[in-house]
Amino acid sequence: MSNRPLCIQCKARPAAYNYKKGNKVYYRRRCDVCVRKNAKKKTNGLENWQKSGYNKKQQCESCGFQAQHEVQLDVYHLDGNRNNNSYNNLKTLCANCLRLRGISKVKTSWRQGHLIPDNL
Ligand SMILES: [Zn+2]
Ligand SMILES: [Zn+2]
Repeated sequence: MSNRPLCIQCKARPAAYNYKKGNKVYYRRRCDVCVRKNAKKKTNGLENWQKSGYNKKQQCESCGFQAQHEVQLDVYHLDGNRNNNSYNNLKTLCANCLRLRGISKVKTSWRQGHLIPDNL
């Protein structure tokens, strides 16, 4: 058994498994969490939907909540696939609605293809 090093970044979690060569296991220098964080940074903090050119609405498309600041709204992927950023897969939701959708079986009445894309 080789000694699994700690992540050099957070020093809290074990480094992520990288690959195995012969009997020796190679680890990455960082844990999964830090690797993912860093990957996100590289995109300049831009989410995929931002890169796709989608613009967040000023209000929640589910409850109509009017945001005072855009951080109160987030973009929801109808099919749950964050890589599918076609406009008819994206909805602007407030934090409340987003959370509800995330945790519950709240049935979404939205279906892909139903939506009229914004004029951009
Ligand atoms: Zn780490
Ligand atoms: Zn809402």
